[in-house]
Amino acid sequence: MTTLLINSIYRATEGEGIHIGIPQIFVRFQGCHVGCVNCDTKETWDFDPAFTRSLDEVMEEIETLSQDVIKRISVTGGDPLHPSHIPSLIELLTELKRRNYYVNIEAAGTRLVPEVFDLVDFISYDYKTPSTTVKASKDLLLKFIQSYGPKSQVKAVISDKKDFEATFDALHFVKASGVAVPPWCLTPCFEPGEPFPMNRFQMVVKLNENFGLPFRVIGQQHKWVYGAEARFV
Ligand code: SF4
Repeated sequence: MTTLLINSIYRATEGEGIHIGIPQIFVRFQGCHVGCVNCDTKETWDFDPAFTRSLDEVMEEIETLSQDVIKRISVTGGDPLHPSHIPSLIELLTELKRRNYYVNIEAAGTRLVPEVFDLVDFISYDYKTPSTTVKASKDLLLKFIQSYGPKSQVKAVISDKKDFEATFDALHFVKASGVAVPPWCLTPCFEPGEPFPMNRFQMVVKLNENFGLPFRVIGQQHKWVYGAEARFV
């Protein structure tokens, strides 16, 4: 029997990136070893077997939430692309595609998994900025865009000018290769426990203007509406 480590399954409106505002069902995997210091879902880090669910249970919950009205799924985490998740993730994706769901996967930007990326409709690739303390690879990003650019977006969480400059440097690197650049979104960081960071948001908008408007600045709408600590929204 196929089992998966699932933190939660819930219906909500996409709060960030180019699909902002679209209702969908989120399938959040449990378990992540990436270790971003400004992670806003640290409760998903443990590979805790208490979160084990069968594929049948997961599909039943999705179908109950869907009611054949919402046919969009966003697979997130945690890190759904951690190697230990891959076999069960592929089974889940295969079943979702068999039932005609549109599937987006949130990729941490630390590895490429063609057997997964080939199955999904869309990939949101997170380019890790210095404030996350996770080392980002420009070569990996370029390889990703060369292979999956037309069905992807790149997102980068921006805390400060250093984050912006690192992201701009990555964009420059990708452009120099001559490949078509997919939509690229900057997400001004909004950390749990802080009020809406208006100054940071304005700083990111200003930096984007100063550097020739290469990015789309899209905040995390769900945090404005419900607060940065809210879950299942
Ligand atoms: S990859 Fe995602 S879940 Fe994992 S630490 Fe980073 S932000 Fe958190």
